[in-house]
Amino acid sequence: METADIKTRLKGLPGVDETLKGPEGRKWLSLYPRRFVLKAIREHLEDLRNGIRKGGSPATDPDSISRGIECLVLGYVAPSLRAAINATGVVLHTNLGRAPLSESALNSILEISKGYSNLEYNLKEGKRGKRYAHLSGLIKEITGAPGATVVNNNAAAVLLALSSLAKGKEVIVSRGELVEIGGSFRVPDVMAQSGAVLREVGTTNKTHLRDYERAICGETALILKVHQSNYRITGFTSDVSVEELVALGKRHSIPVMFDLGSGCLFDLRGRGVGTEPVVKEVVETGVDLVTFSGDKLLGGPQAGIAAGKPEVIEKMNQNPLARALRIDKMTLAALQATFFAYADEERAAKEIPALRMLLDRPESIRERAERLASGIGKGKNISVDVIEDSSEAGGGSLPGVSLRTFCVSIRHNSLTPNALEERLRTGAPPVIARIKEDALLLDARTISDDEVPVVAERLNSVLGRR
Ligand SMILES: *Cc1c(COP(=O)(O)O)cnc(C)c1O
Repeated sequence: METADIKTRLKGLPGVDETLKGPEGRKWLSLYPRRFVLKAIREHLEDLRNGIRKGGSPATDPDSISRGIECLVLGYVAPSLRAAINATGVVLHTNLGRAPLSESALNSILEISKGYSNLEYNLKEGKRGKRYAHLSGLIKEITGAPGATVVNNNAAAVLLALSSLAKGKEVIVSRGELVEIGGSFRVPDVMAQSGAVLREVGTTNKTHLRDYERAICGETALILKVHQSNYRITGFTSDVSVEELVALGKRHSIPVMFDLGSGCLFDLRGRGVGTEPVVKEVVETGVDLVTFSGDKLLGGPQAGIAAGKPEVIEKMNQNPLARALRIDKMTLAALQATFFAYADEERAAKEIPALRMLLDRPESIRERAERLASGIGKGKNISVDVIEDSSEAGGGSLPGVSLRTFCVSIRHNSLTPNALEERLRTGAPPVIARIKEDALLLDARTISDDEVPVVAERLNSVLGRR
């Protein structure tokens, strides 16, 4: 293009002010914050100018310009954090917010947060009270532990425990348990941050009681056992049970801690799901401290629960780090309601969404998958089938346990599974699915009854059915 031509085209573009004062500009100002309208106008006009200078010919008719600006404004005003539909079948999907909260947890958040509460106020005595007093009694009741406290997440609980019990001293851990969980939690790194010194024993596949025993010295402050969570060593292996470690600790007067990771309060084994012992059984071994997450198998909000001997809990509460790791009233409210549900196992299984999804019967999942499939418009380019597959607990919980499930499987003649997956993911509401071989799979385990028609509608629009 000639330079003169470029100049003419640049001159032909409207100015920022002019656009703002035009009918579209006034409409946007009535709907959206001024800063985002201005930002979008400036950005779009700048993009057009750059395109023209580079010799391109972007659409500069008024309608195209308006559409371009509107698209940017909508992007700026849409909240980044949004609700999404989990069709992956992974119940505790860390990237999708882990455990959805129960109705009673949500009601409790609303009730406690919309006004004032006795968060740190002792109503009986009319003076300052303790934030964690509300929960420690309930946790003690449910886990059988004589002491309990709560922090921001399980990583924080481990950090606080190591810092409180073993700063500047040695902590013995099996090499088979030096795990990384989800990229950001690595046992050796947390150990270093806490100021404790890691004393590795054994090998990756085998650690014996004598390995621990030989490592004990004057510097030993703690024996730590870590749940392997999202990985499993199989084959020629052996590790030392928590019972044996507790006996060893007793002989040498060294406390023993077990980072349980997920921490199960409901006996899933009894329902044929996995082999995870419940927290109460672990506490009964006489271990000094257990820590676990609030938003894994427990099915509550993000939190770290520490349950154990009162003197250990007291040391953790006294640590200045505890203040930096404390939980807020909304979390406390949700956690209180979630723990309360466990007072009655049957109630917990019905009320807590994560448990409900884990325990859902294959027939009921199949029925939901069939309802979803029947809501999808048929066509000769598309094949829609209900197939059997397996889903997982996720969040490092129940490693190696596969849960029998049913999925809606979709194949399209001209759209690849990747293209379908992307369209579902980037629309509103976002639907996150998975791909297996050459099909898109929507796992009905994690899709609720209410979401079935919504997912069907999204699919129809993505498939061009409606
Ligand atoms: C998940 C997990 C953690 C981290 O818990 P968060 O609540 O995510 O901080 C720590 N240890 C183990 C063994 C875990 O499985």
